[in-house]
Amino acid sequence: MPPIILTINAGSSSIKFAVFDNGAERPAAVRGIVESIASKLRFVARDKEGRPLAERDWPRGASFDALLQYILSWVEEHLDDGRLAGVGHRVVHGGCDHIKPERVDAALIKAFDRLAPLAPLHEAHNLAPIRAVARLRPDLPQIACFDTAFHHTMPPVARRFGLPRELENAGIRRYGFHGLSYEYIAGKLRETAPSIASGRVIAAHLGNGASLCAMANGQSIDTTMGFTTLDGLVMGTRCGNLDPGVILFLQQERGLTAGEVADMLYRRSGLLGVSGGIASDMRTLIASDDRRAAEAVELFVFRIAREIGALTSSLGGLDGIVFTAGIGENAAPVRKAVLAGLGWLGIEPDDAANDKHAAIITAPQSRVEVRVIPTDEEAIIARHTEQTIGP
Ligand code: ADP
Repeated sequence: MPPIILTINAGSSSIKFAVFDNGAERPAAVRGIVESIASKLRFVARDKEGRPLAERDWPRGASFDALLQYILSWVEEHLDDGRLAGVGHRVVHGGCDHIKPERVDAALIKAFDRLAPLAPLHEAHNLAPIRAVARLRPDLPQIACFDTAFHHTMPPVARRFGLPRELENAGIRRYGFHGLSYEYIAGKLRETAPSIASGRVIAAHLGNGASLCAMANGQSIDTTMGFTTLDGLVMGTRCGNLDPGVILFLQQERGLTAGEVADMLYRRSGLLGVSGGIASDMRTLIASDDRRAAEAVELFVFRIAREIGALTSSLGGLDGIVFTAGIGENAAPVRKAVLAGLGWLGIEPDDAANDKHAAIITAPQSRVEVRVIPTDEEAIIARHTEQTIGP
């Protein structure tokens, strides 16, 4: 019988989990989330068809251990006749040393302390459930799956900043993120469109965090995110690519502390900042008739199209584009606007297909084929966990 795997993807505002009870290659039997809604934390678990299986509320201050304990107990109670073989976690930053999934042990937990400052919006949240499960269930194998790992195939020139050598030697270089999502997309593309998968593809992971990945024959060769998840595209609340002189100006002329600058760039910029505080959420911005909301969406689109141009150059041409994640999978007007700026690549959009979120949203004669593929980071975490635990 295949091992039963629990995956945990803990972010700043939610803990997502999934249970794979019949091997990592079959759909998850249960998907659930704990998120804050109004003044409460709400646990919801759903079956394969999306029907609710359980709901429960906690007061907002509930401890992390209590939430994790509840998820573990709930999952184990709902396993008909099996027991958990392991827990796989998404860890956003793996630094230089962690380029494949790893079994969690005391040394790895210690190494995480050095990685935490590299992804201030994520890493502490990713690591908290690992520590909690290690405390609550020390015998349960845990596997850490790194979002940076997929990009370790980037050539040195794409990893390097124009900074003094000693900084590069100290690990200050471009890593890239959303690797679990890109790995899933590369695999799905191999199954559904092998001739494109073996060519030059740009995958666009557009969610609250957003990035692009240039893949040659399914391997990352360049990406828009860099040393941290701040770089590249404009995101929900993050600024994306920025002249570093702006940071110097804010500190030297405006007197902002490092902490205040970090708060501004990670939490108060991006779509939220450009829209003048209307929203970080694309749905709200598209629905708004405020000019600043439209300008935020315009900037989001402009920067995607510009970076697609840059990554096409890294790839030496382009055969396919894949849109994925919350905005990429659902926001037809955003996809339409991005493609409208890419006619020079020989892209011929099929608007009706785009409006229906069809799998292929370009006309048959389009020189570059554009696809929409729903991502599934949990499936990749489950696969790595199953493989790393072994039979
Ligand atoms: P996260 O990075 O937190 O996993 P998601 O991948 O869930 O984020 O993406 C969240 C984004 O997707 C939000 O900006 C949300 O507004 C957007 N989104 C989700 N559904 C739609 C939709 N139907 N139309 C437009 N945007 C959508």
